[in-house]
Amino acid sequence: MKKIVALALSSSFALASAASEGIPTDVTEAAEELLRAGMTDRVGFQVVEDLTTEVGPRLGGSEAEARARVWAEAKLRSLGFENVRTETFSMPYWERAYEYAAIEHPFPQELLVTALGNSVGTPEGGVRGQVVEFETLTDLINAPLDNSLEGKIVFVNEGMVRTQDGSGYGVAVRKRSGAANEGAKRGAIAALIRSVGTDSHRFPHTGGMRYEEGVTKIPTAALSAPDADQLERALNRSPVTVSLDLAVRTLDKVTSGNVIGEIPGQTDEIVVIGGHLDSWDLGTGAVDDGAGIGITTGAAKLIMEHINTTGEKPLRTIRLVYWGSEEVGLLGARAYAQQHKDELGKHVMAAESDFGAGRIWKMDTRFGDDKVELGVDIIRVLDAAGVALGNNQATGGPDVTPLRALGVPVVTLRQNGWDYFDLHHTADDTIDKIDPDDLAQNVAVYAAFTWMAANTPGGFRADPAAVGTE
Ligand SMILES: [Zn+2]
Repeated sequence: MKKIVALALSSSFALASAASEGIPTDVTEAAEELLRAGMTDRVGFQVVEDLTTEVGPRLGGSEAEARARVWAEAKLRSLGFENVRTETFSMPYWERAYEYAAIEHPFPQELLVTALGNSVGTPEGGVRGQVVEFETLTDLINAPLDNSLEGKIVFVNEGMVRTQDGSGYGVAVRKRSGAANEGAKRGAIAALIRSVGTDSHRFPHTGGMRYEEGVTKIPTAALSAPDADQLERALNRSPVTVSLDLAVRTLDKVTSGNVIGEIPGQTDEIVVIGGHLDSWDLGTGAVDDGAGIGITTGAAKLIMEHINTTGEKPLRTIRLVYWGSEEVGLLGARAYAQQHKDELGKHVMAAESDFGAGRIWKMDTRFGDDKVELGVDIIRVLDAAGVALGNNQATGGPDVTPLRALGVPVVTLRQNGWDYFDLHHTADDTIDKIDPDDLAQNVAVYAAFTWMAANTPGGFRADPAAVGTE
């Protein structure tokens, strides 16, 4: 906290906080210009196309993710970013090798499944057992803790509610770990779930799961929505036996990394924007999270062009971060917070784009209580792009949650996620799903927002004097 207090002594901070006089007009005017220019941006989309074409799928810790880092450094240099570097970290590695499921009896036929990230494999030759269906994870949790599932395959058939803000995900995703953990506690030999998703296509959705300490690790996989329906129909007719065969490969220690590029500012303060570079292995990671990489890179590039034409250098350094290994447990996010712990007091703002490429419609903030009015000033500019002001409880995006927990102000520029969970973590997550105009609106909003974050005197933390704490 001492460093923050020291910064508070600068005269601009004192002025801004005393009268809460908001964002200077020259800053909002430049932001308005960036917003206008961003609406026709194509740099952001080009970055997504390049990443998803030249690298493709890039699972955290894989050789493909390593190639993505090489690609990223080259891309950032070619776009003119400074201080381009990779900050590495170690992690355990998991990848799928083989997956197969089928109804064996009484209606023999294959079912489309995908292993959930971190699942153990089945014993050689697979497992077979009678399926016991639970409509929801809560039903399974409420089932008696006895051996009633001994030798059985548990099937959690819970659906997910489609919403614009993705709020259905929080509930639905619990079964991804919960089915295996709760099934194993009752003797199950494997766990199947209906994919965590909102589509009706025959693409199973993968995603990370975690075993509870002390609980037997049973193999677990997701059925595509129509395959879950099919299994449900079979179960409505008769007891059903299913076979499941999963093989996975793991390594104790591999290297991953965060790739960074910067636009230097006049002070040592920092505004962080970015997305995550890794993806799941099934698709090419266009909406998750090639889009976030493209949006924030396009925005920063636009700001760079503004600087080049006006000679107007931002107050703070704009740091673009491509986090590594997000999908497999926010490993890059944790590594960044650890490796930068000594300069977190100088992090004025952080925001990650990680919800596809739908248009931004709302901005949630997480500012100091005496700084929430700055959100109103920002929205006066973003309003022209159709963005409204939300609450002051923003998460900032998955990779900035560790920064938020350490006191860094964040915003979430909330995107329309109506279709996001149709594609999320499936083989269908490819660039044809991205509308370049929608992506450009994101670039515009990020550029305008980032410029204001980088140039608002005093920043966005609570004024220590105002709240009476150090
Ligand atoms: Zn993501």
